[in-house]
Amino acid sequence: MTLPDNVQIIIQMLEDAGFEAYAVGGCVRDLLLGLTPYDYDIATDAVPAQMKEVFAGERIIATGEKYGTLTVVMGGIPYEITTYRADGEYSDGRRPDSVTFSSQLRDDLCRRDFTVNALAYSDKAGVIDHFGGQEDLRGGIIRAVGVPTERFTEDSLRILRALRFAAVYGFTIESETALAARKQRALLKNVSRERVMAELSKLICGFGVGDLISEYRDIFAEFVPNIADADLHRLNNAPADRITRLALLFAHLGKNKACNTLKRLKYSNATCKFTAPLISNYGLPPIEADRIVVKQMLSRYGEETFFRIANIREGSYEAAQIALDVIDKDECFTLRKMEFKGEVLVKLGFKGGIIGERLELLLQAHIRGECDNTVESMREYLKNRGLLTPAFVKRLPRRNERGSERK
Ligand code: ATP
Ligand code: MG
Repeated sequence: MTLPDNVQIIIQMLEDAGFEAYAVGGCVRDLLLGLTPYDYDIATDAVPAQMKEVFAGERIIATGEKYGTLTVVMGGIPYEITTYRADGEYSDGRRPDSVTFSSQLRDDLCRRDFTVNALAYSDKAGVIDHFGGQEDLRGGIIRAVGVPTERFTEDSLRILRALRFAAVYGFTIESETALAARKQRALLKNVSRERVMAELSKLICGFGVGDLISEYRDIFAEFVPNIADADLHRLNNAPADRITRLALLFAHLGKNKACNTLKRLKYSNATCKFTAPLISNYGLPPIEADRIVVKQMLSRYGEETFFRIANIREGSYEAAQIALDVIDKDECFTLRKMEFKGEVLVKLGFKGGIIGERLELLLQAHIRGECDNTVESMREYLKNRGLLTPAFVKRLPRRNERGSERK
């Protein structure tokens, strides 16, 4: 196992100063799995004041000194270094009330959620594994460190973390841990919706997530309404795209309720906006393999959403092939690609929203094959329909004005 140079340097500097230091948690897990860690956390027996002395020549960002954390910038990348901790009591089921520093690595590993996350590594000491994390990694098992019920009561976010790791790595949750997670599921309401969302977003793109949700239906029911009606089967084989998967998870609710649920989970407006058309299209027959229909949909939804819809509407393979060909040939299905621009209309005296309406009309006409994508052909199209001169409509009297007219 090889740590990045920056991490090796940080560990070495602490060791040279007489302290212990290890890469800990998720990064060790991921390295052992042959994956690229998202970030590296370093744990040490040095307290922040001592760390500051060790890294006096480096750029230091004071992040959470009270909690024992200092961020050191090494090679331009920030690394969190945290003093070994033995967490105190949890009264809110989320965050320990107090943090106690420790001089023992074991204490620090003991408070971590799962055996596979309770690993430490340094080049000098190799892998430190007090709870059988390496064996569980080999066996593909998510197992709580210590007594599962207590661990989930301390912090109920761990229930979702267990499910997330099971989904992302294709692991199974050890039976006692799973039972405790089920039993404590009501505690999930104490977890902030942002955190539920963050875990759900990571989980939803995992392997066999439909089967996992099905197996732990009781837990997911805490935040997915009417889960019994959800199309979990489709989730397993859907592309690992967050928007597509969220749409499938919530499609049974219909567009409005699904969007409300997403918003309640603090998903962004953009997520709702991209998910909504997928849900509206859910359950519809395959997209017709017709060039005009495909171009109309491409113009309405844009390329990205079109292909997501093609995935949602099973059997749309041919339509997707046509779309690829349309894109490949750079055919026009957006205003941007249209030769005829708004300025032509402005020069003729058009003002305001009518310009956009005319352009859209031309685009749709072109898609239907009624005019070419040239200024001349489109001008002709409008002219033949008497749409090339701006209509100076007399302003109609307002309602109250009409009222006074009547008098
Ligand atoms: P990711 O791949 O999302 O980074 P991670 O396991 O590294 O997953 P982090 O949030 O980066 O998750 O946390 C780093 C480490 O801190 C974990 O591996 C685990 O040892 C510990 N940890 C994180 N959250 C908790 C928690 N809620 N309870 C106990 N230990 C936790
Ligand atoms: Mg991490």
